[in-house]
Amino acid sequence: MPETATATFPLRVVDGRRLEKRVRDALDPGGTLSDADGRARQLPRYFYEIPTWEDAVGTQLAPNFHLWELVQSDVREASPLRAFPRYVPCAVTLLAFALERFRDHVGTTVHVAANGGYRSPRHALTHGASTHCWATAANIYRIGDAYLDTPDVIDRYAAIARDALPGVWIRPHGGGPGQVDDHLHIDVGYVVSTPREAPGEPFHPKLEWGAL
Ligand SMILES: [Zn+2]
Repeated sequence: MPETATATFPLRVVDGRRLEKRVRDALDPGGTLSDADGRARQLPRYFYEIPTWEDAVGTQLAPNFHLWELVQSDVREASPLRAFPRYVPCAVTLLAFALERFRDHVGTTVHVAANGGYRSPRHALTHGASTHCWATAANIYRIGDAYLDTPDVIDRYAAIARDALPGVWIRPHGGGPGQVDDHLHIDVGYVVSTPREAPGEPFHPKLEWGAL
């Protein structure tokens, strides 16, 4: 029964538009950001609520990934979002699936950098529609004993990621704008997740038709 399956996941789904104003302003649920080509990308509206850091540490998203690894941030995150409860877009579970599959292919530990998982639209490192704001991107700085800080190593693992994850996007390496030289950025695009138990407005078919 699906109800039983979802009941085992410990985090509550919340509608970001119903959070207190200062949190809502920082998360900008359902808002839009411009991508690098000037296209509007709609931000997530539904979030998992993380009551405490212990919950982030204790919540397993995949056999080798826990929630804390994907929500680590520092003072560069907006101050209303540095206190608990904290919020992460629901697509973070899908990112964990992707990272787990990548880990299977590399056969060793995959380390995500601080500020390298979810970042809010108000995070200091956010410029435009970064997929980090969707919780669908990860900056991987180390795999096993290898640090991803040379073109050879980054290229090697980028090839594995492309093979393991059809449709994945990898930021090109280099020192220029939009390029990276000290980690592997992988993302699965602007995925918005609406879990089955997510709240929402009642559906009014007549109003929908009237709006056409
Ligand atoms: Zn990144």
